[in-house]
Amino acid sequence: MTTRLFIDGAFCAPVKGGSFAAIDPATEQEFAQVAAATGEDVHLAVRAARRSFDAGVWADLPASDRAATLRRIAEGIRAETPALAAIETRDNGKPLPEAIWDIEDAAFVFDYYADLAEADAKAPLRTIDLGDDRFDGRVWREPVGVVAAITPWNFPMLMAVWKVAPALAAGCSVVLKPSELCALSCHELARIIDAAGVPAGVFNLLTGDGPSAGAPLSEHPLVDKVAFTGSVATGRRVMQAASAGIRTVSLELGGKSPFVIFDDADIDRAVEWILFGIFWNKGEVCSATSRVLVQKALYQPLLARLKEATEAITIGPGDQDGIKLGPIVSKSQYDKIMGFLARAQGNGARLITGGGRPHGMDTGYFIAPTIYADVPPEAEIWREEIFGPVVCLAPFETEEEAIHLANDSPFGLAAAVMSHDLDRCDRVAAKLRAGIIWINCSQPTFTQAPWGGYKTSGIGRELGREGFDAYFETKQVTRFARDADWGWYLGGGDA
Ligand code: NAD
Repeated sequence: MTTRLFIDGAFCAPVKGGSFAAIDPATEQEFAQVAAATGEDVHLAVRAARRSFDAGVWADLPASDRAATLRRIAEGIRAETPALAAIETRDNGKPLPEAIWDIEDAAFVFDYYADLAEADAKAPLRTIDLGDDRFDGRVWREPVGVVAAITPWNFPMLMAVWKVAPALAAGCSVVLKPSELCALSCHELARIIDAAGVPAGVFNLLTGDGPSAGAPLSEHPLVDKVAFTGSVATGRRVMQAASAGIRTVSLELGGKSPFVIFDDADIDRAVEWILFGIFWNKGEVCSATSRVLVQKALYQPLLARLKEATEAITIGPGDQDGIKLGPIVSKSQYDKIMGFLARAQGNGARLITGGGRPHGMDTGYFIAPTIYADVPPEAEIWREEIFGPVVCLAPFETEEEAIHLANDSPFGLAAAVMSHDLDRCDRVAAKLRAGIIWINCSQPTFTQAPWGGYKTSGIGRELGREGFDAYFETKQVTRFARDADWGWYLGGGDA
Protein backbone atom coordinates (compact mmCIF):
# COMPACT_ATOMS: atom_id res chain seq x y z
CA MET A 1 0.00 0.00 0.00
CA THR A 2 1.19 3.52 -0.85
CA THR A 3 -0.73 6.45 0.61
CA ARG A 4 -1.48 9.66 -1.27
CA LEU A 5 -1.74 13.32 -0.43
CA PHE A 6 -5.16 14.97 -0.23
CA ILE A 7 -5.25 18.36 -1.95
CA ASP A 8 -8.21 20.43 -3.14
CA GLY A 9 -10.72 17.64 -2.61
CA ALA A 10 -8.76 14.84 -4.33
CA PHE A 11 -6.24 12.19 -3.36
CA CYS A 12 -3.12 12.60 -5.48
CA ALA A 13 0.49 11.49 -5.76
CA PRO A 14 3.18 14.00 -4.70
CA VAL A 15 4.50 16.19 -7.53
CA LYS A 16 7.93 14.57 -7.27
CA GLY A 17 6.45 11.10 -6.73
CA GLY A 18 8.45 10.30 -3.58
CA SER A 19 7.50 8.01 -0.71
CA PHE A 20 9.01 6.59 2.48
CA ALA A 21 8.48 3.45 4.56
CA ALA A 22 6.09 3.07 7.49
CA ILE A 23 7.73 0.71 9.98
CA ASP A 24 5.92 -1.46 12.54
CA PRO A 25 7.95 -0.82 15.72
CA ALA A 26 7.02 -4.22 17.18
CA THR A 27 8.50 -6.17 14.23
CA GLU A 28 10.84 -3.58 12.68
CA GLN A 29 9.21 -4.50 9.33
CA GLU A 30 7.94 -2.11 6.68
CA PHE A 31 4.18 -2.38 6.17
CA ALA A 32 3.30 0.58 3.92
CA GLN A 33 4.77 3.36 1.82
CA VAL A 34 3.76 6.91 2.69
CA ALA A 35 3.57 9.74 0.13
CA ALA A 36 6.39 12.26 0.62
CA ALA A 37 5.27 15.84 0.02
CA THR A 38 7.76 18.54 -0.96
CA GLY A 39 7.56 22.32 -1.32
CA GLU A 40 5.64 21.98 -4.62
CA ASP A 41 2.83 20.04 -2.92
CA VAL A 42 2.84 22.47 0.01
CA HIS A 43 2.25 25.32 -2.42
CA LEU A 44 -0.64 23.49 -4.15
CA ALA A 45 -2.27 22.62 -0.82
CA VAL A 46 -1.93 26.09 0.69
CA ARG A 47 -3.24 27.71 -2.52
CA ALA A 48 -6.26 25.37 -2.47
CA ALA A 49 -6.91 26.22 1.18
CA ARG A 50 -6.56 29.95 0.45
CA ARG A 51 -8.96 29.78 -2.52
CA SER A 52 -11.57 27.88 -0.52
CA PHE A 53 -11.31 30.29 2.40
CA ASP A 54 -11.47 33.44 0.28
CA ALA A 55 -14.45 32.06 -1.69
CA GLY A 56 -16.32 31.51 1.59
CA VAL A 57 -17.44 27.99 0.63
CA TRP A 58 -17.05 26.88 4.24
CA ALA A 59 -16.49 30.01 6.34
CA ASP A 60 -19.72 31.63 5.10
CA LEU A 61 -21.95 28.61 5.75
CA PRO A 62 -24.32 28.87 8.71
CA ALA A 63 -22.62 27.42 11.81
CA SER A 64 -25.36 24.79 12.02
CA ASP A 65 -24.36 23.45 8.57
CA ARG A 66 -20.70 23.27 9.57
CA ALA A 67 -21.70 21.61 12.85
CA ALA A 68 -23.75 18.98 11.00
CA THR A 69 -20.74 18.16 8.82
CA LEU A 70 -18.47 17.91 11.88
CA ARG A 71 -20.94 15.50 13.47
CA ARG A 72 -20.83 13.37 10.31
CA ILE A 73 -17.03 13.29 10.65
CA ALA A 74 -17.42 12.15 14.28
CA GLU A 75 -19.81 9.41 13.14
CA GLY A 76 -17.41 8.38 10.37
CA ILE A 77 -14.58 8.02 12.86
CA ARG A 78 -16.78 6.09 15.32
CA ALA A 79 -17.93 3.70 12.61
CA GLU A 80 -14.30 2.77 11.87
CA THR A 81 -12.91 2.77 15.43
CA PRO A 82 -11.51 -0.81 15.39
CA ALA A 83 -9.74 -0.35 12.05
CA LEU A 84 -8.40 3.11 12.92
CA ALA A 85 -7.16 1.90 16.31
CA ALA A 86 -5.42 -1.07 14.64
CA ILE A 87 -3.61 1.35 12.28
CA GLU A 88 -2.52 3.50 15.25
CA THR A 89 -1.19 0.43 17.10
CA ARG A 90 0.74 -0.84 14.08
CA ASP A 91 2.20 2.56 13.21
CA ASN A 92 2.98 3.81 16.72
CA GLY A 93 3.25 0.61 18.80
CA LYS A 94 0.79 1.64 21.53
CA PRO A 95 -1.39 -1.09 23.10
CA LEU A 96 -4.69 -1.50 21.24
CA PRO A 97 -6.97 -0.49 24.17
CA GLU A 98 -5.05 2.81 24.38
CA ALA A 99 -5.45 3.33 20.63
CA ILE A 100 -9.21 2.72 20.95
CA TRP A 101 -9.36 5.46 23.61
CA ASP A 102 -7.56 7.84 21.26
CA ILE A 103 -9.95 7.21 18.38
CA GLU A 104 -13.04 7.52 20.59
CA ASP A 105 -11.64 10.79 21.92
CA ALA A 106 -11.01 12.06 18.40
CA ALA A 107 -14.65 11.47 17.46
CA PHE A 108 -15.82 13.27 20.60
CA VAL A 109 -13.62 16.31 19.83
CA PHE A 110 -15.53 16.82 16.54
CA ASP A 111 -18.88 16.59 18.37
CA TYR A 112 -17.70 18.98 21.08
CA TYR A 113 -16.63 21.71 18.64
CA ALA A 114 -19.79 21.20 16.57
CA ASP A 115 -21.78 22.02 19.73
CA LEU A 116 -19.62 25.03 20.55
CA ALA A 117 -19.90 26.46 17.01
CA GLU A 118 -23.67 26.12 17.10
CA ALA A 119 -24.02 27.60 20.58
CA ASP A 120 -21.86 30.58 19.62
CA ALA A 121 -23.89 31.26 16.51
CA LYS A 122 -27.00 31.59 18.71
CA ALA A 123 -25.30 33.95 21.17
CA PRO A 124 -26.33 37.61 20.83
CA LEU A 125 -23.96 39.86 18.92
CA ARG A 126 -21.54 41.48 21.34
CA THR A 127 -21.98 45.23 21.65
CA ILE A 128 -19.70 47.49 23.65
CA ASP A 129 -20.34 50.72 25.46
CA LEU A 130 -17.82 53.15 23.98
CA GLY A 131 -18.57 55.82 26.57
CA ASP A 132 -19.70 58.18 23.81
CA ASP A 133 -23.34 58.00 22.72
CA ARG A 134 -22.51 59.29 19.23
CA PHE A 135 -20.92 55.91 18.46
CA ASP A 136 -22.10 52.30 18.47
CA GLY A 137 -19.51 49.64 19.10
CA ARG A 138 -19.70 45.99 18.10
CA VAL A 139 -17.24 43.12 18.25
CA TRP A 140 -17.29 40.45 15.56
CA ARG A 141 -15.41 37.19 15.52
CA GLU A 142 -14.18 35.83 12.21
CA PRO A 143 -12.27 32.66 11.37
CA VAL A 144 -8.54 33.30 11.33
CA GLY A 145 -8.18 32.02 7.73
CA VAL A 146 -5.78 29.37 6.44
CA VAL A 147 -4.37 27.21 9.23
CA ALA A 148 -1.22 25.11 8.90
CA ALA A 149 -1.44 22.28 11.46
CA ILE A 150 1.83 20.44 12.14
CA THR A 151 1.61 17.51 14.54
CA PRO A 152 3.67 14.80 16.30
CA TRP A 153 3.54 10.98 16.34
CA ASN A 154 2.60 10.13 19.93
CA PHE A 155 -1.19 10.41 19.49
CA PRO A 156 -1.13 10.60 15.69
CA MET A 157 -4.80 11.16 14.90
CA LEU A 158 -5.83 12.76 18.17
CA MET A 159 -3.17 15.49 18.11
CA ALA A 160 -4.25 16.35 14.55
CA VAL A 161 -7.92 16.44 15.55
CA TRP A 162 -7.22 18.81 18.49
CA LYS A 163 -6.38 21.35 15.76
CA VAL A 164 -8.49 20.29 12.77
CA ALA A 165 -11.84 20.06 14.63
CA PRO A 166 -11.87 23.55 16.23
CA ALA A 167 -10.34 25.12 13.10
CA LEU A 168 -13.06 23.64 10.87
CA ALA A 169 -15.74 24.49 13.43
CA ALA A 170 -14.57 28.11 13.36
CA GLY A 171 -14.75 28.22 9.54
CA CYS A 172 -11.04 28.03 8.76
CA SER A 173 -9.42 26.11 5.91
CA VAL A 174 -6.71 23.69 7.01
CA VAL A 175 -3.51 22.12 5.71
CA LEU A 176 -2.50 19.26 8.01
CA LYS A 177 1.05 17.86 8.13
CA PRO A 178 1.23 14.93 10.55
CA SER A 179 4.50 13.38 11.71
CA GLU A 180 6.33 11.31 9.10
CA LEU A 181 6.70 8.58 11.76
CA CYS A 182 2.94 7.92 12.08
CA ALA A 183 0.96 9.40 9.20
CA LEU A 184 -1.39 6.58 8.27
CA SER A 185 -4.38 7.34 10.52
CA CYS A 186 -4.41 10.94 9.24
CA HIS A 187 -4.64 9.54 5.71
CA GLU A 188 -7.83 7.75 6.79
CA LEU A 189 -9.03 10.93 8.51
CA ALA A 190 -8.77 12.78 5.18
CA ARG A 191 -11.01 10.16 3.57
CA ILE A 192 -13.57 10.45 6.39
CA ILE A 193 -13.55 14.26 6.25
CA ASP A 194 -14.06 14.13 2.48
CA ALA A 195 -16.92 11.62 2.79
CA ALA A 196 -18.62 13.85 5.37
CA GLY A 197 -18.99 16.59 2.72
CA VAL A 198 -16.34 19.17 3.62
CA PRO A 199 -15.95 21.26 0.42
CA ALA A 200 -12.85 20.88 -1.76
CA GLY A 201 -9.81 22.82 -0.54
CA VAL A 202 -11.09 23.28 3.03
CA PHE A 203 -9.13 20.31 4.38
CA ASN A 204 -5.83 19.22 2.84
CA LEU A 205 -3.34 16.57 3.95
CA LEU A 206 0.39 16.62 3.31
CA THR A 207 2.42 13.70 4.56
CA GLY A 208 6.16 14.18 4.60
CA ASP A 209 9.09 14.99 6.79
CA GLY A 210 9.95 18.20 8.63
CA PRO A 211 12.55 19.76 6.33
CA SER A 212 10.75 18.92 3.04
CA ALA A 213 7.10 19.49 4.01
CA GLY A 214 6.87 21.03 7.51
CA ALA A 215 9.34 23.85 6.94
CA PRO A 216 7.88 25.15 3.64
CA LEU A 217 4.40 24.94 5.19
CA SER A 218 5.34 26.97 8.26
CA GLU A 219 7.05 29.55 6.01
CA HIS A 220 4.29 29.86 3.42
CA PRO A 221 3.09 33.48 2.97
CA LEU A 222 -0.55 32.47 2.30
CA VAL A 223 -0.88 30.79 5.73
CA ASP A 224 -2.57 32.90 8.43
CA LYS A 225 -1.85 30.76 11.47
CA VAL A 226 0.53 27.91 12.28
CA ALA A 227 -0.73 25.53 14.96
CA PHE A 228 2.19 23.34 16.01
CA THR A 229 2.67 20.44 18.41
CA GLY A 230 6.11 18.89 18.79
CA SER A 231 9.50 19.43 20.33
CA VAL A 232 10.86 22.70 21.68
CA ALA A 233 13.64 22.74 19.05
CA THR A 234 11.19 22.47 16.15
CA GLY A 235 8.75 24.86 17.83
CA ARG A 236 11.49 27.46 17.89
CA ARG A 237 12.05 26.99 14.13
CA VAL A 238 8.32 27.22 13.43
CA MET A 239 8.09 30.44 15.44
CA GLN A 240 11.08 31.91 13.59
CA ALA A 241 9.53 30.98 10.24
CA ALA A 242 6.21 32.56 11.23
CA SER A 243 7.94 35.75 12.35
CA ALA A 244 8.83 36.67 8.75
CA GLY A 245 5.16 37.14 7.90
CA ILE A 246 4.07 38.07 11.48
CA ARG A 247 1.74 35.09 11.49
CA THR A 248 -0.06 33.85 14.57
CA VAL A 249 1.46 30.71 16.08
CA SER A 250 0.31 28.37 18.78
CA LEU A 251 2.90 26.00 20.21
CA GLU A 252 2.27 22.85 22.24
CA LEU A 253 5.75 21.68 23.16
CA GLY A 254 7.54 19.35 25.51
CA GLY A 255 7.49 18.81 29.24
CA LYS A 256 9.24 17.32 32.27
CA SER A 257 6.26 17.31 34.56
CA PRO A 258 6.62 16.85 38.33
CA PHE A 259 4.38 14.73 40.58
CA VAL A 260 4.50 15.78 44.25
CA ILE A 261 3.38 13.05 46.66
CA PHE A 262 2.92 13.88 50.35
CA ASP A 263 3.39 11.25 53.06
CA ASP A 264 -0.31 11.07 53.94
CA ALA A 265 -1.09 9.63 50.47
CA ASP A 266 -2.34 6.06 50.10
CA ILE A 267 0.63 4.09 48.85
CA ASP A 268 -1.19 1.89 46.31
CA ARG A 269 -3.06 4.84 44.82
CA ALA A 270 0.19 6.76 44.57
CA VAL A 271 1.87 3.83 42.79
CA GLU A 272 -1.07 3.41 40.39
CA TRP A 273 -0.99 7.08 39.33
CA ILE A 274 2.81 7.11 39.07
CA LEU A 275 2.58 4.12 36.69
CA PHE A 276 -0.22 5.71 34.66
CA GLY A 277 1.64 9.02 34.66
CA ILE A 278 4.76 7.60 33.02
CA PHE A 279 4.09 4.19 31.42
CA TRP A 280 0.76 4.87 29.69
CA ASN A 281 1.50 5.34 25.97
CA LYS A 282 5.08 4.15 26.75
CA GLY A 283 5.86 7.48 28.39
CA GLU A 284 5.59 9.11 24.95
CA VAL A 285 3.32 11.73 26.45
CA CYS A 286 4.18 15.44 26.55
CA SER A 287 2.58 15.78 30.00
CA ALA A 288 4.04 12.53 31.44
CA THR A 289 4.86 12.98 35.13
CA SER A 290 8.46 11.89 34.71
CA ARG A 291 9.84 13.57 37.87
CA VAL A 292 8.29 12.16 41.05
CA LEU A 293 8.93 13.92 44.37
CA VAL A 294 7.99 11.85 47.41
CA GLN A 295 7.91 13.09 51.01
CA LYS A 296 10.62 11.38 53.05
CA ALA A 297 8.52 9.14 55.32
CA LEU A 298 6.81 7.55 52.31
CA TYR A 299 9.85 7.42 50.00
CA GLN A 300 11.38 3.98 50.74
CA PRO A 301 8.09 2.03 51.15
CA LEU A 302 6.74 3.62 47.98
CA LEU A 303 9.89 2.74 46.03
CA ALA A 304 9.59 -0.92 47.03
CA ARG A 305 5.92 -1.10 45.99
CA LEU A 306 6.62 0.81 42.76
CA LYS A 307 9.44 -1.57 41.79
CA GLU A 308 7.21 -4.59 42.33
CA ALA A 309 4.31 -3.11 40.33
CA THR A 310 6.60 -1.94 37.51
CA GLU A 311 8.18 -5.37 37.13
CA ALA A 312 4.68 -6.86 36.74
CA ILE A 313 3.89 -4.73 33.65
CA THR A 314 3.33 -6.89 30.56
CA ILE A 315 5.50 -5.80 27.64
CA GLY A 316 4.91 -6.81 24.02
CA PRO A 317 3.39 -5.96 20.63
CA GLY A 318 0.46 -3.60 21.11
CA ASP A 319 -2.00 -5.84 19.25
CA GLN A 320 -1.59 -8.75 21.71
CA ASP A 321 -4.06 -9.22 24.57
CA GLY A 322 -3.13 -7.91 28.00
CA ILE A 323 -0.15 -5.82 26.88
CA LYS A 324 0.37 -2.69 28.96
CA LEU A 325 3.62 -1.45 27.37
CA GLY A 326 4.31 -1.51 23.64
CA PRO A 327 7.50 -0.79 21.67
CA ILE A 328 9.01 2.68 21.32
CA VAL A 329 7.75 4.38 18.15
CA SER A 330 10.92 4.23 16.03
CA LYS A 331 14.56 3.22 15.92
CA SER A 332 15.69 6.84 16.28
CA GLN A 333 13.52 7.42 19.38
CA TYR A 334 14.69 4.05 20.79
CA ASP A 335 18.35 5.05 20.29
CA LYS A 336 17.68 8.45 21.87
CA ILE A 337 16.22 6.87 25.02
CA MET A 338 19.01 4.25 25.22
CA GLY A 339 21.49 7.15 25.08
CA PHE A 340 19.82 8.76 28.12
CA LEU A 341 19.98 5.43 29.98
CA ALA A 342 23.67 4.89 29.13
CA ARG A 343 24.61 8.41 30.27
CA ALA A 344 22.54 8.05 33.48
CA GLN A 345 25.09 5.57 34.89
CA GLY A 346 27.53 8.14 36.15
CA ASN A 347 25.22 10.85 37.47
CA GLY A 348 24.53 9.59 41.00
CA ALA A 349 21.05 8.18 40.29
CA ARG A 350 20.23 4.69 41.54
CA LEU A 351 18.72 2.29 38.96
CA ILE A 352 15.83 0.44 40.63
CA THR A 353 14.55 -1.56 37.66
CA GLY A 354 14.70 -1.62 33.85
CA GLY A 355 17.43 0.40 32.21
CA GLY A 356 17.48 -1.30 28.79
CA ARG A 357 15.87 -3.97 26.62
CA PRO A 358 13.57 -6.43 28.38
CA HIS A 359 15.12 -9.92 28.67
CA GLY A 360 14.40 -12.23 25.76
CA MET A 361 12.91 -9.58 23.47
CA ASP A 362 15.38 -9.26 20.62
CA THR A 363 13.11 -7.85 17.93
CA GLY A 364 11.15 -4.60 18.13
CA TYR A 365 12.05 -1.30 19.74
CA PHE A 366 11.23 -2.43 23.28
CA ILE A 367 12.56 -0.75 26.41
CA ALA A 368 11.76 -2.08 29.89
CA PRO A 369 9.87 0.29 32.18
CA THR A 370 12.64 2.03 34.08
CA ILE A 371 12.87 3.61 37.54
CA TYR A 372 15.70 5.74 38.86
CA ALA A 373 15.76 6.81 42.53
CA ASP A 374 17.73 9.50 44.39
CA VAL A 375 18.12 11.43 41.15
CA PRO A 376 20.05 14.68 41.70
CA PRO A 377 18.26 17.80 40.39
CA GLU A 378 21.16 18.60 38.07
CA ALA A 379 21.17 15.14 36.39
CA GLU A 380 20.37 15.04 32.68
CA ILE A 381 17.59 12.46 33.23
CA TRP A 382 15.96 14.82 35.78
CA ARG A 383 16.14 17.90 33.56
CA GLU A 384 15.61 16.73 29.96
CA GLU A 385 12.51 15.32 28.34
CA ILE A 386 13.23 11.63 27.65
CA PHE A 387 9.82 10.88 26.08
CA GLY A 388 9.94 7.22 27.01
CA PRO A 389 9.10 4.81 29.87
CA VAL A 390 11.62 6.25 32.33
CA VAL A 391 10.68 7.78 35.68
CA CYS A 392 12.97 9.62 38.12
CA LEU A 393 12.27 9.84 41.85
CA ALA A 394 13.71 12.04 44.57
CA PRO A 395 12.74 12.64 48.21
CA PHE A 396 11.69 15.96 49.79
CA GLU A 397 10.97 17.12 53.33
CA THR A 398 8.82 20.27 53.28
CA GLU A 399 6.05 21.65 51.08
CA GLU A 400 8.24 24.64 50.16
CA GLU A 401 11.08 22.36 49.10
CA ALA A 402 8.71 20.27 46.95
CA ILE A 403 7.35 23.38 45.21
CA HIS A 404 10.86 24.67 44.59
CA LEU A 405 12.07 21.34 43.12
CA ALA A 406 8.89 20.95 41.05
CA ASN A 407 9.22 24.41 39.51
CA ASP A 408 12.97 24.11 38.93
CA SER A 409 12.61 23.28 35.22
CA PRO A 410 12.51 25.22 31.95
CA PHE A 411 9.26 23.36 31.18
CA GLY A 412 5.79 24.11 32.55
CA LEU A 413 3.29 21.89 30.80
CA ALA A 414 1.73 19.86 33.61
CA ALA A 415 2.18 18.91 37.27
CA ALA A 416 0.43 16.64 39.76
CA VAL A 417 0.03 16.66 43.52
CA MET A 418 -1.27 13.95 45.84
CA SER A 419 -2.39 14.28 49.47
CA HIS A 420 -5.49 13.64 51.60
CA ASP A 421 -5.29 17.30 52.62
CA LEU A 422 -7.18 19.03 49.80
CA ASP A 423 -6.34 22.51 51.09
CA ARG A 424 -2.69 21.61 50.79
CA CYS A 425 -3.30 20.29 47.26
CA ASP A 426 -4.91 23.58 46.23
CA ARG A 427 -2.14 25.59 47.89
CA VAL A 428 0.52 23.63 46.00
CA ALA A 429 -1.51 23.74 42.76
CA ALA A 430 -1.56 27.54 42.99
CA LYS A 431 2.24 27.67 43.31
CA LEU A 432 3.10 25.23 40.52
CA ARG A 433 4.10 27.02 37.31
CA ALA A 434 2.30 24.80 34.79
CA GLY A 435 -0.77 25.02 32.58
CA ILE A 436 -2.29 21.71 33.69
CA ILE A 437 -2.50 20.55 37.32
CA TRP A 438 -3.78 17.16 38.40
CA ILE A 439 -4.81 16.60 42.03
CA ASN A 440 -4.77 13.02 43.30
CA CYS A 441 -4.33 11.70 39.75
CA SER A 442 -2.07 12.17 36.71
CA GLN A 443 -2.91 12.38 32.99
CA PRO A 444 -6.71 12.16 32.61
CA THR A 445 -7.41 14.64 29.80
CA PHE A 446 -10.78 16.12 28.94
CA THR A 447 -11.77 17.83 25.70
CA GLN A 448 -13.71 20.42 27.73
CA ALA A 449 -10.65 21.68 29.66
CA PRO A 450 -7.95 24.00 28.20
CA TRP A 451 -4.60 22.35 27.49
CA GLY A 452 -1.21 24.03 27.15
CA GLY A 453 1.97 25.05 28.86
CA TYR A 454 3.86 27.76 30.70
CA LYS A 455 7.51 28.60 30.01
CA THR A 456 9.16 26.60 27.18
CA SER A 457 6.20 24.21 27.06
CA GLY A 458 4.41 26.49 24.67
CA ILE A 459 2.21 29.40 23.73
CA GLY A 460 -1.59 29.31 23.64
CA ARG A 461 -4.12 26.67 24.60
CA GLU A 462 -5.87 23.83 22.81
CA LEU A 463 -9.10 22.07 23.79
CA GLY A 464 -12.00 23.62 25.67
CA ARG A 465 -13.40 27.06 24.87
CA GLU A 466 -9.83 28.44 24.63
CA GLY A 467 -8.97 25.90 21.93
CA PHE A 468 -11.90 27.23 19.85
CA ASP A 469 -11.19 30.92 20.43
CA ALA A 470 -7.66 30.30 19.11
CA TYR A 471 -9.07 29.99 15.56
CA PHE A 472 -10.74 33.41 15.43
CA GLU A 473 -9.71 36.95 14.67
CA THR A 474 -11.46 39.72 16.57
CA LYS A 475 -12.83 42.65 14.62
CA GLN A 476 -14.23 45.81 16.16
CA VAL A 477 -16.89 47.62 14.14
CA THR A 478 -17.44 51.21 15.23
CA ARG A 479 -20.32 53.18 13.71
CA PHE A 480 -20.93 56.94 13.88
CA ALA A 481 -24.54 56.84 15.00
CA ARG A 482 -25.60 60.45 14.46
CA ASP A 483 -27.06 61.88 11.30
CA ALA A 484 -24.83 64.92 11.77
CA ASP A 485 -21.52 66.39 10.66
CA TRP A 486 -18.34 65.55 12.57
CA GLY A 487 -17.24 69.18 12.38
CA TRP A 488 -13.50 69.04 12.98
CA TYR A 489 -12.33 70.38 9.61
CA LEU A 490 -15.66 71.44 8.18
CA GLY A 491 -17.21 73.69 10.83
CA GLY A 492 -20.57 73.56 12.52
CA GLY A 493 -20.70 69.85 13.51
CA ASP A 494 -20.82 67.95 16.80
CA ALA A 495 -17.13 67.11 17.41
P1 NAD B 1 9.15 17.04 16.34
O1 NAD B 1 9.35 18.45 16.76
O2 NAD B 1 10.32 16.26 15.90
O3 NAD B 1 8.12 16.96 15.12
C1 NAD B 1 6.82 17.51 15.21
C2 NAD B 1 6.33 17.83 13.83
O4 NAD B 1 7.12 18.89 13.28
C3 NAD B 1 6.43 16.68 12.83
O5 NAD B 1 5.30 16.69 12.00
C4 NAD B 1 7.68 17.02 12.04
O6 NAD B 1 7.72 16.47 10.75
C5 NAD B 1 7.57 18.52 11.98
N1 NAD B 1 8.82 19.23 11.70
C6 NAD B 1 10.10 18.82 11.91
N2 NAD B 1 10.98 19.78 11.53
C7 NAD B 1 10.22 20.84 11.09
C8 NAD B 1 10.54 22.14 10.60
N3 NAD B 1 11.80 22.55 10.46
N4 NAD B 1 9.52 22.96 10.29
C9 NAD B 1 8.24 22.58 10.45
N5 NAD B 1 7.88 21.35 10.88
C10 NAD B 1 8.86 20.50 11.21
O7 NAD B 1 8.39 16.33 17.54
P2 NAD B 1 7.97 14.79 17.63
O8 NAD B 1 9.21 14.00 17.91
O9 NAD B 1 7.11 14.42 16.48
O10 NAD B 1 7.03 14.80 18.92
C11 NAD B 1 7.52 14.72 20.21
C12 NAD B 1 7.49 16.08 20.88
O11 NAD B 1 6.17 16.61 20.83
C13 NAD B 1 7.83 15.98 22.35
O12 NAD B 1 8.71 17.01 22.71
C14 NAD B 1 6.49 16.15 23.03
O13 NAD B 1 6.58 16.63 24.34
C15 NAD B 1 5.80 17.08 22.12
N6 NAD B 1 4.33 17.00 22.29
C16 NAD B 1 3.68 18.02 22.93
C17 NAD B 1 2.30 17.95 23.14
C18 NAD B 1 1.56 19.06 23.87
O14 NAD B 1 0.34 19.05 23.86
N7 NAD B 1 2.25 20.00 24.50
C19 NAD B 1 1.59 16.84 22.68
C20 NAD B 1 2.28 15.83 22.03
C21 NAD B 1 3.65 15.92 21.83
